[in-house]
Amino acid sequence: MRRSASRVIRSLTLWSAVFAALVLLFRYAAPTPAEALIDERTTLYIQTDGGIVETTAADYLPYVVAAEIPVSYGPEALKAQAVAARTYILASDRHSGANVCTDSACCLAYLSEAELRDRWGSDYDADLAAVRAAVTATDGQVLTYGGELILAAFHASSDGQTEDSAAVWAPLPYLVAVETPETAETVPGLASEAVFSPEELAERLGLSADTPPEAWLEGSELDDAGRVRYLRVGGQSLSGGFVRRALGLRSTDFTVRYADGAFIFTVRGYGHGVGMSQEGARLLAADGWSYEEILAHYYPGTELTLLPPQVH
Ligand SMILES: [Zn+2]
Repeated sequence: MRRSASRVIRSLTLWSAVFAALVLLFRYAAPTPAEALIDERTTLYIQTDGGIVETTAADYLPYVVAAEIPVSYGPEALKAQAVAARTYILASDRHSGANVCTDSACCLAYLSEAELRDRWGSDYDADLAAVRAAVTATDGQVLTYGGELILAAFHASSDGQTEDSAAVWAPLPYLVAVETPETAETVPGLASEAVFSPEELAERLGLSADTPPEAWLEGSELDDAGRVRYLRVGGQSLSGGFVRRALGLRSTDFTVRYADGAFIFTVRGYGHGVGMSQEGARLLAADGWSYEEILAHYYPGTELTLLPPQVH
């Protein structure tokens, strides 16, 4: 009995080895077009200063991810960023004839190879490999809601809670305020300050108050996420978004006081606050969250799906 059992095991081992060899042979010796990455077959059109350039998601995404977040944020944060960027690019209709442009203030950040070599120096090869690995590991993956690509908005950081898109653009069911782990201790520079003289503030905000500056501040109305919806200043009620843009504040999550002849704004977080927080993704990844969990947290109710094989 024992001998026949060992013969069966030997035979099974042999057949397993033959099977494994055949799998390897087919995998590496005869790749078919169907095995090519979805990103390689996903054509993108990029608006550049020199006109519209045709590329693929496989070629373009690494330079977006690398420009958006540091490699030190970790593999899961890089993967979450890759999926968000892929989704954002394919859903964007901001430019006619192109998916996106290379201006971070308009679409998404992008750095050329030369710029990345400059930034990374001797780490260039290793850092680009890490970014490429995150893009390849999420090949063709996008976020959808109700079968449609989502507006995968993201921003640098928030203080405790992200923003509802209704407060910035229009309501979207998957862009609602959610908790985010950043604190002043975990994110250096989470709080920033901006100081303006009364004259400067009046000019930038278009105020024409005839009362003394110490009487200009009349309180603010906060939205559900704790950011400024309206600031009442100098007899006017100005939206938080307008004040942010006019004064170049990092976010609408601010308080303001008048002291020693100046208006002092204390601002928390960086960006519009909607969707995924990049610093939040870094902290959650460091806490052991997978990129799927990070995306599900910041874009609740969405599905992580594969693109159809051909996208144009
Ligand atoms: Zn653009």
